[in-house]
Formats: sequence, C-alpha cells, structure tokens
Amino acid sequence: MSTQTNEVIVAKFGGSSMANLEAMTRSAQISVNKGANMVVVSAVYGVTNLLVEISKKAPAGDEERVNELIHEIEDKHRQILQEMQASESLKDDVTVLLSEVTMIAKGMLLLRECSDRAYDSLVSLGERLSSLVFSEVLARINEQLASNKKVELFDIRQVLVTDDNFTKAAPDIEATKARADQFLVNAKYGDIVYVSQGFIGATSDGLTTTLGRGGSDYSAALVAEAMGADTLQIWTDVAGIATTDPRIVKEAKLLNEITFSEAAELATFGAKILHPTTLTPALRAGIKVFVGSSYEPNEPGTWIKNDTESAPLIRAMALRREQSLVTLSTPKMLQAHGFLFEIFKIFNEFKVSIDSITTSEISVALTLDDSALLNKKIIDRLSELCSVKVEKDLTLVSLIGNEINHTPNLAARIFNAVEGINVRMICLGASKHNFCFLVGKNDADQTIQRLHKEFI
Ligand code: ADP
Ligand code: ASP
Ligand code: MG
Repeated sequence: MSTQTNEVIVAKFGGSSMANLEAMTRSAQISVNKGANMVVVSAVYGVTNLLVEISKKAPAGDEERVNELIHEIEDKHRQILQEMQASESLKDDVTVLLSEVTMIAKGMLLLRECSDRAYDSLVSLGERLSSLVFSEVLARINEQLASNKKVELFDIRQVLVTDDNFTKAAPDIEATKARADQFLVNAKYGDIVYVSQGFIGATSDGLTTTLGRGGSDYSAALVAEAMGADTLQIWTDVAGIATTDPRIVKEAKLLNEITFSEAAELATFGAKILHPTTLTPALRAGIKVFVGSSYEPNEPGTWIKNDTESAPLIRAMALRREQSLVTLSTPKMLQAHGFLFEIFKIFNEFKVSIDSITTSEISVALTLDDSALLNKKIIDRLSELCSVKVEKDLTLVSLIGNEINHTPNLAARIFNAVEGINVRMICLGASKHNFCFLVGKNDADQTIQRLHKEFI
C-alpha cells in the first residue's frame, strides 16, 4: 500500500477560471503544477445566474425565456466540447445533464412552481456540468505534462452531507469527515487527483442541496477539512486579496498576507473574493489558505495566516450592498428587560441573521440583507411587539484592520473623509478588527474611494 508523502492540497477554481476552454486549460495546468489532490470547481462563468433565472421565469410561465436560457446554457457547454474535440462519451454525459436541466425546467413550467428543493436540484447542474467537462480537460493536460496521477470525477454529494435547509444548507461536519475517510482516502497517497463540485451537497437521504450563492469557496474549505488537507488554494480572477474591490478603486493594492480574523471580517462584510464562511473550517483545522489568480498564477498572491508580519491600523475595506435598516421601537423597552430576547427569538425563528445592531432607550436599530425581509411574515410578527420601520437599499461600509477600537482620532479621520455623506448608523466596539457604518446605496462607491485615499 502507498504511503502519504507530500502535503495534501485542495485547489478551488471559481467561475471565471472555468469560463471557456482556455480558462479551463490554464486551471488544469495550475492543478498539475501545484500538485493538487482534490480540485473543486464552480459552474462555468454565468451559468448559475442563467439557472437561477430559469427558476424565476419557469414558475411565472415564461416559456419563451426559459427556452432561451436553456439554449444559452447548452451553447456555453457545447462550445467548449467542440473546441476541445471532446470524446463521444463525454458529449453523451453532458447531454444527459443538459436534458436534466430541461426536464426540471419543464416541470417548473407545468407546475408553475419552484420549491427550494427543486431550485437546488436545478442550480446544482451548473457545477455538475463544469466538473464533468473539466475532469476531461485535466486528464488530457495530465497526459501532456506526463503526470502519472489518475484523474477521477467525484460526486461531492457522496461526501458533503448537509441539513435540509435547501438553498442555504449547513454542513454536517462529522458526517462529512466520516464520508471523506470512506471515499477520499486515496487522495492522500498522490496517485489520484479528484475533480469535484463546489456549492452543492446532499442531505443524509441523498437529496441535493446548495450552500448559498458563492458557496464553492466554502465547499472547498469543508472538503479540505474533511480530507485533513494541509493547504487550500482559492484560484480566482484577481491575483489575491486587495485592499478593497479593484472594481471600485482601481488603485487597490494586493496584499501579500492577511490574518484569518481580518480576512473573515472582510468576507463577512461583503468582499466577494471569499464566501463569508470559507475560513471557519480552515481555521478550525489549521489549514493554510492561499488566494491567487488563475490568469496570473506566477504572481505572489495572498496567504491567510494566524500571524502576519505587520498589523496595520487599516488593512482593507469592504462594501456590503442591499442592506435594510430595521428600527424597532416601543416605550415598553423603557427600563424593562427581555425585549431584545423577544425580538431575537423572532429572527431566529425565521433563520434571519443580523449583521450589526445599535440600541437606545426605546429603540433598537439593526441591519439585515434586503432579501431577509422578502418574507413579510417576519415584519408582521415584529409588529405585534413594537413599531417597525424599514429603510431599504442601504450599503454597509466596513474598515478592517487592527486595534480599531483603541485608536484615538480614528473616527474623526473617517468622518472627515466622508464629509457631506449621510451616515445612517455606526457600529464600533464589538471587534478590534472592524468599524462599519451605513450609507445610501448611491454614496457607497464614493465613500470607499475617499476612505481608500485617506487610509491606504
Ligand atoms: P470566483 O468566481 O473565482 O469565486 P468571485 O467573482 O466570486 O470569483 O470573486 C472575485 C471578485 O471579488 C473579484 O473579481 C473582485 O472584483 C471581488 N473583490 C471584492 N473585494 C475584493 C478584495 N478585497 N480583493 C480582491 N477582490 C475583491
Ligand atoms: N456557482 C455558484 C454561484 O455562482 C457557486 C460559486 O461559484 O461559488 O453562486
Ligand atoms: Mg466566488
């Protein structure tokens, strides 16, 4: 029997690294050069959005648009197959998955309904398709580069066990670990490289689930933890984590290193570069995390570490858009106890997570994702306890760094920089790594641009 010799590496490639044959080929070369044991991939760029649109248009009965969307998904994959001169068996396997897209879409059109469970089955097809195609691309590159590893397409639903909270399922860490010990043990010995799907999992009964949009980063971290991996590499379209989103500030600087705490704050407070929960499994299991660009694999990228050489006051900043500010007021709060308990019970019941909170004598203001309020029943329930005011379309701006709550004059510098912009709520004190405040959505980009100029 072989023994484990090298470190175990899980590499994740996002949608832009799967955009077409060229991107897939580059990603395959990186997988081989970096010695990945498990490669977790996202859907082909744009495909998840198309599937999500089907899930909205089909229940609305818009057959014409649904057919267009199905064709668009088909074209994207067939184009790659044609360019790579795919084998007949790969073409057949892709056809089977594409007909699954059509069947589910037709079912939704007929029933005029899309349950969360049906949604997950539909959107899971993005990753099931991309991983199928990518496994063949990787097998060919492996041959060309004379790597003697065997490439195996692996259905992650056999390993990534979740609860049945469809569309935003939570992993069962213990069960996932046990399944990885059973099914993925060979990855450690270096003879096999597995190609598998991000974003999707399955309940213990085998029903397909998803971890929420952008969830492939989280999947890769969970799989890395379950496999006992040493390193998690996240390959995307930017050469590492930057001081802010380079799409908003073109002078944003790439960071060579960032701490787990800072990176977790950045991800939670809206930086799309990492799914918010990605770092939890990595931190729990002591896995090193690297973020780099599959377009420029030789750039240094960013390492996420426990300890970094520097600890700047402001390392980075992020925006979290589509936020609602909910203000709950009642005179009953005056010198009373238990009010916060009652309202948190309601948020808990609706599985809504609160991002930040401030209180005064008779009111509480908190921020939530706009989407959390789509279910109007939560407002009705809160209204039974107090008066409820909702302001939508706000953006949470966060500054992330160190000793933020112990630095004199910091607030003055921040608010001088954003002079003239209406600040709706401020949160400081809960973490030494974060200072955040709410602004209107039209002021958000300008706020970040001015803060970046002031601090970085
Ligand atoms: P993938 O498909 O590889 O998961 P995403 O689009 O989800 O890629 O995430 C990468 C994007 O995150 C970048 O293109 C960039 O615009 C955005 N982003 C937001 N904040 C940052 C940041 N601080 N550093 C780098 N990229 C960021
Ligand atoms: N394909 C999924 C999405 O677009 C998951 C991911 O890419 O992380 O949300
Ligand atoms: Mg992503």
